[in-house]
Amino acid sequence: MEVKLLNFTPLWVCSNAIRTCWQSFERGDNGGEKDLALINRVGNEMKHSSTLEHIFYNFYIKGVSRALLQELARHRMASLSVKSTRYTLKELRNEPEITSDSAAKYIVLTGNEAVDSASIKALNNLREILGANTSLDIAKYCLPECYKTELAWSINARSLQNFLSLRSSKSALWEIRALANALFAALPEEHKFIFEHCMYKGSGEI
Ligand SMILES: Cc1cc2nc3c(=O)[nH]c(=O)nc-3n(C[C@H](O)[C@H](O)[C@H](O)COP(=O)(O)OP(=O)(O)OC[C@H]3O[C@@H](n4cnc5c(N)ncnc54)[C@H](O)[C@@H]3O)c2cc1C
Repeated sequence: MEVKLLNFTPLWVCSNAIRTCWQSFERGDNGGEKDLALINRVGNEMKHSSTLEHIFYNFYIKGVSRALLQELARHRMASLSVKSTRYTLKELRNEPEITSDSAAKYIVLTGNEAVDSASIKALNNLREILGANTSLDIAKYCLPECYKTELAWSINARSLQNFLSLRSSKSALWEIRALANALFAALPEEHKFIFEHCMYKGSGEI
């Protein structure tokens, strides 16, 4: 998978919002140490978490499965614009037979030979159906869950905290855990203190 951070709100916007409550603007330091300590104290420790909603992150996420997508879409406090199979499935129409060497272009492989081989079969079935000029709206019903997709995903810092807590956990699906880790890694270094405590620190074993 690939995760790119396209844009984000600078931290002073959040500290400025917090200072609005007390009208203490003159005590700010334009996103410096004082402002960061304020965000941590008010947003994280005092749980006045709505102040974190002023910080927005816009990500582009590529090469994740539709199995992951349906879990990601459960996070209602985020905005998604997803590559539509209704318009894009024709990308498979003129492909030669998909093999284990070429499959990763279209599907997320698990490393389990039996599962991956079943996924490649499903992909070839779909390819044949598309080759017979079946409409994309009908053909999409036999898409395997491993089919890769991509999306623009925007989320505020409060909701991202919730997402990272739930999805970096060892009880989350392995692929969405990988996404949670990649999202955290893509954040600007100076923002990571807002989310550090949300990241699961134990081993990956379930
Ligand atoms: C390990 C794991 C296993 C899961 N298994 C299943 C499963 O088997 N079946 C299944 O259906 N789902 C499952 N889920 C999905 C889960 O139920 C949530 O839908 C998903 O994690 C999104 O979480 P959220 O509602 O906190 O996030 P968001 O939808 O982004 O909401 C963010 C926060 O806003 C508030 N909020 C949002 N909507 C409401 C509302 N209507 N009322 C009150 N407060 C609201 C809540 O505080 C919520 O935490 C699983 C999730 C995890 C992490």
